[in-house]
Amino acid sequence: MTTELTPLYPQLPEKALIVLIGASGAGKTTLARTWPAFQVLSLDSLRGWVSDDEGCQDATADAVDVLHLLVDRRMARRRNTVVDATNVSSDARAPLVAAAKRHGMPAIAVVLGTPEVVCLARQVPRPANRTVPDDTVRAQHKARIHSHQSLHGEGFNEVHFAENLYRLEPFLRRLSEARDADLGLDGGDGLGDLLLVRRVFGPEILPLWQWKHRSAVAGGDRVAEIRLGQLYLTLALRRNVDGEGDYGFDVLVPCPFDPECSGDAWVPAYTVSCLHRALTGQLDNHEDIVCTVHGGFDDVDQEADDHASNLDDDPEGRADIDAQAMTALHG
Ligand SMILES: [Zn+2]
Repeated sequence: MTTELTPLYPQLPEKALIVLIGASGAGKTTLARTWPAFQVLSLDSLRGWVSDDEGCQDATADAVDVLHLLVDRRMARRRNTVVDATNVSSDARAPLVAAAKRHGMPAIAVVLGTPEVVCLARQVPRPANRTVPDDTVRAQHKARIHSHQSLHGEGFNEVHFAENLYRLEPFLRRLSEARDADLGLDGGDGLGDLLLVRRVFGPEILPLWQWKHRSAVAGGDRVAEIRLGQLYLTLALRRNVDGEGDYGFDVLVPCPFDPECSGDAWVPAYTVSCLHRALTGQLDNHEDIVCTVHGGFDDVDQEADDHASNLDDDPEGRADIDAQAMTALHG
């Protein structure tokens, strides 16, 4: 009784050619991502590599050429390889199986039995160039069901349904190991201070990021530079941006109050879009800029207002400025 209830998780060979078989929208790419990126050969990606457009159907023949070359070279090196393409026709599968046999590697068919309605529904949110027409999805679905009986005859050593594979554990294990490495829990250096940089600005920024340990430009706060060639941005790490100890970054911009100003003008940078705007001058007059000499826009307004108040007592105008200052503080 209990053995009947125990789910069957077939153990895949450690090194094989794994051919995913399923209609567009069946979930092949989601499943494929549970393997390390280099092991996955995705026809969509290969279309993108030959044509700049993953959905370019004209590029399919070229992409398949590249796929066959990569499969052959990986099989020759006995590397575990996952082919993420519909593979619903035996014509598409034959060269893949042949490459595995040529190099003495097992060929494993993994069939995605996702219902047709689900595959069709998943086309809707896709970008226009990635949507597969309903008729095509239906035909792929039929071909997939039809092919199931013939897979062993085609030379596959094993045939499995995707839903029986035990892929969640290796997927989470890999993510967990990557996180441990980031934190230095694996005995390595980890990302350290760069963890915050990555969280705020994204992983692509890390290679350009350099802490400037001797810089005093931020009044004692840590200073960093994002530099590529001659272009660069200067940033400061602020340790108490909200009065509650939260961390944040400021980026250095020109002083908006005086082009000859000897101070440093800083404006908060919340995302990589702020960095782009700072580099292209779009933050140059931002209302949140604070200059070490002039202060912020509220201070400058306040000064002008003080002059005005001395001339003609204007309590209403004053109250208005105070309200603006409060909004700026809390908003
Ligand atoms: Zn200034």
